[in-house]
Amino acid sequence: MEKLEFNFALLAERGANLCGADRLRIESCNQCQGQYLFNAELNDVYYDAEDLTRHFFKIAAMDLPPCRYCGHPSWDFGVVPDRVAVQSGPWAWTLLSRQFIFAADD
Ligand SMILES: [Zn+2]
Repeated sequence: MEKLEFNFALLAERGANLCGADRLRIESCNQCQGQYLFNAELNDVYYDAEDLTRHFFKIAAMDLPPCRYCGHPSWDFGVVPDRVAVQSGPWAWTLLSRQFIFAADD
């Protein structure tokens, strides 16, 4: 699977809660395909691409708030949108590059 490269400097500048070992991915609502930014390292879900202070932790014992896109109360992630969907979605600004980059220098 293609790996998306994220712009951590810009995310930090915009107030993302980063720990240095972040495992970011974009995941979609399984009801409406609305996209969220998820930091798997911290179980941290970003709810609003325009306001990174709106985030919550995904903890098994806690219910998620309703999906912000479709309002469905019992939704979940698990769907990973393809690159084109991310690049045309609300989180496109978090990507380091819109080009495919071969992992050559690490
Ligand atoms: Zn939804």
